[in-house]
Amino acid sequence: MSTIDRIAPPDPERLQRDYLQRGHPAILVGLFDDAPLARVRTLADARAELADVPIEIQPNYIEFLRTGRPGTRRRMRLADYLAELERDPGTTDVCVEYATPDVVREKLPAPAYCAIRAPDDVVSTTFLAGAGNFTHLHFDDDQRDTLLYQVFGRKRVVIIDPRENRKLDAYLSLDAATNDALARIRARDANGRVFLERFSEADKQAFLRYVNAWECVLEPGETILIPMLAWHYVEYVDTGMSVTYRLGRDATTRRIAAAMPMPTTTAQTVASLLRDAARLREERPQLVRALDDAASRPYPDPAARAAAVEACLRQAFDEITGESAEAVLHVREMYRRNLAAVDAGARPAAPEMAAVAADVRASERANLVERTALKPTRLRTVGIVGGGTAGYLTALALRKQRPELDITLIESSKVKIIGVGEATTALLPHFLHKTLGLDVVEFFREVQPTWKLGIRFEWGLPGDYYFNSPFQFGRLLESLAHESDINRNCAGSRMMSENRTPVLKLHDGRYHSLLSEIPFAYHLDNRRFVAYLHRRALAAGIRHKDALIADVKGGDGGRDVEFLQTEDGERLAYDLFVDCSGFRSLLIGRALGSPFTSYASSLFTDRAIVADVPHPDDPPSIDVYTRAETMDCGWCWGIPMPESDHRGYVYASPFCSEQAAVDEMRRKNPGMGDYWTVNFRSGRHAEFWKGNVVAIGNSYAFVEPLQSTAIHMIIVQILELLTSFPAERGLHCFQPLVNKRIGAVWDYLRYFLGAHYRYNRRLDTPFWHANRAEADVSGIQDVIDTFCERAPIGGTPQRFRELDASTFGVYRHDLLFMGQRLPTTYLEPEIDRDNWLKISASVDRVVARALPHAASIEVLMSQPQMLARWVERLE
Ligand code: FAD
Repeated sequence: MSTIDRIAPPDPERLQRDYLQRGHPAILVGLFDDAPLARVRTLADARAELADVPIEIQPNYIEFLRTGRPGTRRRMRLADYLAELERDPGTTDVCVEYATPDVVREKLPAPAYCAIRAPDDVVSTTFLAGAGNFTHLHFDDDQRDTLLYQVFGRKRVVIIDPRENRKLDAYLSLDAATNDALARIRARDANGRVFLERFSEADKQAFLRYVNAWECVLEPGETILIPMLAWHYVEYVDTGMSVTYRLGRDATTRRIAAAMPMPTTTAQTVASLLRDAARLREERPQLVRALDDAASRPYPDPAARAAAVEACLRQAFDEITGESAEAVLHVREMYRRNLAAVDAGARPAAPEMAAVAADVRASERANLVERTALKPTRLRTVGIVGGGTAGYLTALALRKQRPELDITLIESSKVKIIGVGEATTALLPHFLHKTLGLDVVEFFREVQPTWKLGIRFEWGLPGDYYFNSPFQFGRLLESLAHESDINRNCAGSRMMSENRTPVLKLHDGRYHSLLSEIPFAYHLDNRRFVAYLHRRALAAGIRHKDALIADVKGGDGGRDVEFLQTEDGERLAYDLFVDCSGFRSLLIGRALGSPFTSYASSLFTDRAIVADVPHPDDPPSIDVYTRAETMDCGWCWGIPMPESDHRGYVYASPFCSEQAAVDEMRRKNPGMGDYWTVNFRSGRHAEFWKGNVVAIGNSYAFVEPLQSTAIHMIIVQILELLTSFPAERGLHCFQPLVNKRIGAVWDYLRYFLGAHYRYNRRLDTPFWHANRAEADVSGIQDVIDTFCERAPIGGTPQRFRELDASTFGVYRHDLLFMGQRLPTTYLEPEIDRDNWLKISASVDRVVARALPHAASIEVLMSQPQMLARWVERLE
């Protein structure tokens, strides 16, 4: 259950973006402070200032639901009604949804928000009732967003997202009379299925937790936003009065509401997507067209129109949720009939439902709290703990691929993200722009990535030697045999050596893109990247919560996590939890106790000194690769950012003090600014998925960024989560399989990185001596032996399917071993020297036309269609 945020009234655009489009309630403090009605804050004020206001009184709607008959309406002065309340405090006569009298509207002028959509469609209503009264749980037929201003008295307001709709079925609590009445007024699937006012407070709390409700007590002078089609339940804590402004609707919503004066829960599910109508029109244009058409076509009578719109909504429901609206309604109806039969002491009509119905009634009498454990198991809500790269990428991927899920991301502004600059692999552009569908031009503008064509390893042999590890595949053997230089094996590698990018300037001055031919990745500023993902997540309707998780309940002995407890004592419960809490590993590590396997025998490093270093040239020439430079006790990354070079010395603390590491780094990086340190441990937990927790990012595993694999592995794990996503809660049988798969990918990474250490002969320090003698590469010893017998592995007739399918593929194994000059017997090149030199010369001509970093970014920003075409062709 969540409290509702109290915020200063935002500008209309922000209200629309952050609240209306997301269906997120809020309390707008001080919205009407300047209105004359703000002077009325107490019952006494109301008697003095509003005594003559005309109002209309009628029995609480609940009477209508019980009898099917509207009660008698009486018009009177507000003061007379208050006097009546004093005489009969238990009366259920109330003023409800009464068109706000002009005299009150003059005292409460419409706020600027009324201009957001269709100002001509705004209406205002007034509510007034005595303490102890209530408005039963329902959603509003008119489908408008409502701003409810509390004039005097306090109200307890409960709001439930329409997406929780199915959970209400577990609580159908109709007595026989209500059931009959609803049947007569043909509203059996519409409003009013769960009567919270009949629940004990403990049962209410259990129910509200189960449906992830928002709750607050609204004070006089406050305004609450109740999003369109959200369930809401209101209790009058004191005698009180409210005035609403119900905002104008999108044209399609208006048509549906007019066609269906009493919308069903199917309509609620589908129509609530029109909160963000522009997005729905963009993503599902056919659906919106079909709805508009069904609602506006000519019909013989209104009932025919309502039936046609309902049919259209049901079809959309099936498509959007993957469920059958028919089946959902059928089961609900059977359930309802059998409950009524049990209440009447009759034999339920459907024998298969008898036990369920009897059980529900029995447990209802005992305690509803128990029932939350028994009820629907479909996986609906996901809580992601952590707002670093892992958390946001997971949230966006689930939102995109599983739109039916209700996703909340929880992070604490008190716990900073890891925040180092990030080098990535060529998997990231595909994931961002294809899987997540993020706009590439906007991404370039907002995140300002730099190009990365590969990694330049200053590694292997002493002196100035280096070898490139480009993303493009090349011909290693020909390059080495015919040009004595491994770095001439493909255009991508040559561009790295020349610091050029895959954007060419042709003879005639036109530009030509090779972006689709030469794979690349991005260098990212972690904070800029995460801030961008945060904005995209809010825009995509992901709920966001800034809260420090102080405790995790459940999870003992490997059981499911029950809920998270914030430092304010709030409890957050979800069907599935994703642990993206970084090195803290709050859920998979601390709560579930998944054992941790250390990789320290392969990877000796455990610290990093991180600092920014000014670009050496002016104007800056930005490298198109990540640097991995051998250091005395480890290595130093170089990640070029537009503003400076981001550098980090990864070292092993048993071999080197922090001061010695800083001194060495300063020596090799003139102009280095302030530094900060990061401690880490290499290894992984036994389970990536355990119980109802999935761990992604540093919370599950970590290895140093020698091959820039952290985000790569985040993506691999997200794709696994999407593929293996269970339909129901409590399904665990697939977990050993996926844990094995993901664990094996990480373990391979460990040994592959270990081989970088084992065979690097550049420096003679105790650290490197120890590595050459002891770094454990046993997990890939067979691959190393194969290479040392005949090389390259990719040139042999045998196919090594495991290597093809591994993160690095055959080519990058060969590259690493050849780059470090492991002794072997080389095969004959397939291409002879003359032909290779001809090919080589033509590749050089292409590379000579390639633009350096800044120039290519300028071209792409002025010709964004080049980027768009590249994304279209990504596979
Ligand atoms: P974090 O960024 O640490 O995020 C953790 C989140 O959990 C935060 O939002 C925090 O608020 C939240 N949180 C934690 N505790 C609580 C709590 N109690 N309550 C509420 N919220 C909480 N990766 C690459 O791909 N390339 C690189 O070049 C690279 N270089 C790296 C260099 C170093 C030295 C290190 C250590 C890592 C490097 N990485 C690199 C890894 C990369 O930074 C991470 O994998 C990536 O940023 C994902 O981090 P994360 O989201 O798992 O965790």
